Amino acid sequence: MTDKNDNNTNRQWLLKQRPVGMVTQDCFELAESDIPTPAEGEVLAKMTYLSFAPAMRGWITDMPSYMPPIEIGSPVTAPGLAEVIESNDPNISPGDFVSGLMSWSEYVAGAGWQVVDKNISPEMQLGPLSETGMTAYAGLIRIGELKEGDTVLVSGAAGATGSVAAQIARLKGHKTVGIAGGQEKCDWLLNEAKLDAAIDYKNDDISKALREHFPNGVDVYFENVGGDTLQTVINHLADGARVALCGMISGYNDETPRPGPNNLMLMIVKRITMRGFLVFDHFDLFAEARENIANWVKSGEIAFRNDVQEGFLNIPKTFFRLFEGENKGKQLLKL
Ligand code: NAP
Repeated sequence: MTDKNDNNTNRQWLLKQRPVGMVTQDCFELAESDIPTPAEGEVLAKMTYLSFAPAMRGWITDMPSYMPPIEIGSPVTAPGLAEVIESNDPNISPGDFVSGLMSWSEYVAGAGWQVVDKNISPEMQLGPLSETGMTAYAGLIRIGELKEGDTVLVSGAAGATGSVAAQIARLKGHKTVGIAGGQEKCDWLLNEAKLDAAIDYKNDDISKALREHFPNGVDVYFENVGGDTLQTVINHLADGARVALCGMISGYNDETPRPGPNNLMLMIVKRITMRGFLVFDHFDLFAEARENIANWVKSGEIAFRNDVQEGFLNIPKTFFRLFEGENKGKQLLKL
């Protein structure tokens, strides 16, 4: 099959089987069907961009979660941006662009999507102004309870969410250090995101680096990866530190749960708070977060980068990039 569809049909990637361990290509299968017909109140839209999130690894399993698992044989649910080509909704016109939860399809029919401002680039809409940016903002400010003088550490710091969180902390005047995998990402954190320091967890001694950069401990830790990194960071938290548990990507492909950190006793003696959160519980912050982040990007105070892959056939491979650390910034795919 080529990457061009001349058949006037709708190609989709369906979930064929649930992953065991690392998610692989054979979890998905290609299917071709008729272009859907929008029902009353719905629109028909042609997908233009797909956005990829590590959380989607959870959506294709049947573990308890905040949303029902994607059924075997169904198209894979994914956030995206699409151009409306037919509308049965009086508030939406053909030519409008809508965004929201869609699927790995060429065409989608549905309702409840947001009409987006065509003057804002897809990279910005699906990057810092998407739930990614909202997660960074809510996690750092509300869950991390960031206050004057705090020192801040962010893991997954060169990624879509981590890079925004780290830069918000830096531009608010906090000493901010990021942890990321590899020299290229650490160079980006220093030269573009302008953090105070970057730690390469693949090559550096994290403990030694944390002792050097945080002699009095880390006050706010924005956690994106979990696993060994979390265990190490707990040893370097300050009295009264707050840990915003945003994600734990290092374990998303584990077949069996790993043993937890063995140093949680430190949370008692140091009065540490560790709190998990989901961005969907913080809608009340979105307008403020969007306005601030848009202004910071416009004024050059926040740098962001997108990793835009192309082609319908490359969709599963693009998803895997997140777990191999290949994505440089927000992972998108253009259709
Ligand atoms: P991202 O950071 O742009 O991409 C994922 C990154 O994770 C990779 O580039 C890689 O960076 C790192 N990674 C992959 N495997 C790893 C491993 N085994 N150990 C350490 N790092 C690893 O993705 P994102 O969309 O911004 O998501 C980041 C985190 O936020 C995820 O944990 C996600 O689940 C979470 N999240 C949570 C919410 C919420 O509401 N709580 C919302 C959005 C996202 P390196 O090259 O640096 O290893």
